[in-house]
Amino acid sequence: MDWDIPFFRHDLGAAELDAVREVLAGPVLTTGEYVERLEVELAALLGRRHVVALNSCTGALHLSLLASGIGPGSEVITTPLTFIATTLAIVHAGARPVFVDVEPDTGNLDASRIERAITARTRAIMPVHLYGQMCDMSAIHDVAQRHGLTVIEDSAHCIEGQRAGKHPGDGSAAACFSFYASKNLTCGEGGAVATDDDGLARQLRLLRLHGMTPSSAERYRDGFQHWDVLVPGWKYNMDNIHAALLLAQLPRIEPGLEARERIARKYAAAIDAIPGVQCMVTRPGVVHARHLFPVRVAASARDRIVQALQDDGIGVGVNYRPVTTLTWVREHYGIADADLPEANRIGNEIFSLPIYPRLTERDTDWVIDSLGHALDLRRTA
Ligand SMILES: *Cc1c(COP(=O)(O)O)cnc(C)c1O
Repeated sequence: MDWDIPFFRHDLGAAELDAVREVLAGPVLTTGEYVERLEVELAALLGRRHVVALNSCTGALHLSLLASGIGPGSEVITTPLTFIATTLAIVHAGARPVFVDVEPDTGNLDASRIERAITARTRAIMPVHLYGQMCDMSAIHDVAQRHGLTVIEDSAHCIEGQRAGKHPGDGSAAACFSFYASKNLTCGEGGAVATDDDGLARQLRLLRLHGMTPSSAERYRDGFQHWDVLVPGWKYNMDNIHAALLLAQLPRIEPGLEARERIARKYAAAIDAIPGVQCMVTRPGVVHARHLFPVRVAASARDRIVQALQDDGIGVGVNYRPVTTLTWVREHYGIADADLPEANRIGNEIFSLPIYPRLTERDTDWVIDSLGHALDLRRTA
């Protein structure tokens, strides 16, 4: 379709082209000094000891589980209200996802429901900082500590987010980030793990490239050495080209977040004046990364309103129908909608408006007008 206002548009341009040219002028296209620089800069940004750059967040979640020793026979407590990658990382590690319902007003994993889901096989909790708002990590860490569980955060939406002054990964084994095409920081495809655990970081570096030691980057730097394989690793390393694309965007993180926040405030104020539509709640002490701007309407009207916005040339998304409603997950875990009432209610009422720095005042005015129009139609129909 030809969108007047697409759901997302990246803002990569001249700075990124220069950065890629610089990589192409050098000898190393794969993992090398640009990846190392990116890891150092992201670690500083997040206040973590290590960042390990990978080629996706899905891979980051998968390797974080494996490097934490979580596999067959383990249960991992997670949220149903997420992108399917969270669930599949657990499945591909050989563990079983156990779905706990979400907070009705934020959509984040409800920490107060975790304890009831813990069994003798529970090894980890994988919360998702949904839409860019961090979960109540202090409550999640309390439960994890009481039961000796590993916490791995799916922070795909939340590179800029903070809660109670803490960044993702603080107090957890790891936080995983995505640089997928539509994420706030993007190189098309990419991911990273942030961790304060030296041993975990070392294991992740080994697992991301076939379990080979030393890596080809070290061989390039230090000259020929015979390499060995200590564990059967994966092929999840990030290359210099993608790292350069990301490095070029780091100076724009702050102005980008300010632009997203301005749009969020404008949408929120407008939505306040439109009956029949609501925003999700932001908790006190949260710096919201504003990755998505979800709104809620009556479940019976949602799909019609989504269609009306699309008819006006506006790209919208549904983030998310709970993963427990998807065929494979349903067939394998058989979780009834009634077991996860809050996630299912949100999944039936939610859709997301476009939010990204390139949107103009005219664009957001148009989105608001179109939304008001769609809801007006419902009242007079
Ligand atoms: C995008 C996303 C992922 C997967 O990221 P990739 O980099 O595409 O693997 C995982 N979890 C959530 C919540 C996401 O939105």
